[in-house]
Amino acid sequence: CGIVGYVGSRDSQAILLSGLARLEYRGYDSAGIAVIDGDGDLGMRKRAGKLQVLRDDLNAHPLADGTTGIGHTRWATHGGPTDENAHPHLADDDKLAVIHNGIIENFAELKNELLAEGFTFRSETDTEVAAVLLGREYEATHDLVGAFRTVAARLEGAFTLLAMHRDEPGLVVGARRNSPLVIGLGEGENFLGSDVAAFVEHTRNALAIGQDEIVAITPAGVEVTDFDGNTVEVEPFEVVWDA
Ligand code: GLU
Repeated sequence: CGIVGYVGSRDSQAILLSGLARLEYRGYDSAGIAVIDGDGDLGMRKRAGKLQVLRDDLNAHPLADGTTGIGHTRWATHGGPTDENAHPHLADDDKLAVIHNGIIENFAELKNELLAEGFTFRSETDTEVAAVLLGREYEATHDLVGAFRTVAARLEGAFTLLAMHRDEPGLVVGARRNSPLVIGLGEGENFLGSDVAAFVEHTRNALAIGQDEIVAITPAGVEVTDFDGNTVEVEPFEVVWDA
């Protein structure tokens, strides 16, 4: 339901949690974050309930700080509002984290394909199918942007999808089809959001991503392509916001 991504030099956890708080108005039933820490490990925490439940859990059992992260508030469509069904979903031996807004219409067919190959699932969500598919593709290619492109092209329905992998720290990739995704441009840091509320407290410089496009953000810049890998021009706009 709400999505935020960050790459830069600041601790991402506080940025993710405040971005998610600004997206709360959309409604949600669960929340979670994942962070790649200074040792290159991927930490993840997710809880059913209000953002405060997640905050309390993080205060009681902190995750290591990290400068690359993704955060999600969920409005359950496939699988009830449980901790396990909350996002992020992990794959590739928990080295990869994925969050998703929307509905993947062909998830059952993709899940059967993966089950037949021996992959296992921990949730009832359509989202975890995209995560496991991306994990399989990443294992084969060790190229997050390329693997993400292949997977996005196979998904039907509506999705804003974000992913990051422990082996490619400092990179968050996003894709959108029939669901919104915007880029926030900072100085030595960049943001992704399901809407500008996710990053408006940090930057007013934004880029709109078109239908069926992929974005890769690093602290140094952003690159937008279509699902075939062709570079596309993106439209800059200034966020007008009365806080
Ligand atoms: N379909 C996904 C799920 O049920 C994402 C829902 C959302 O947009 O929050 O987990």
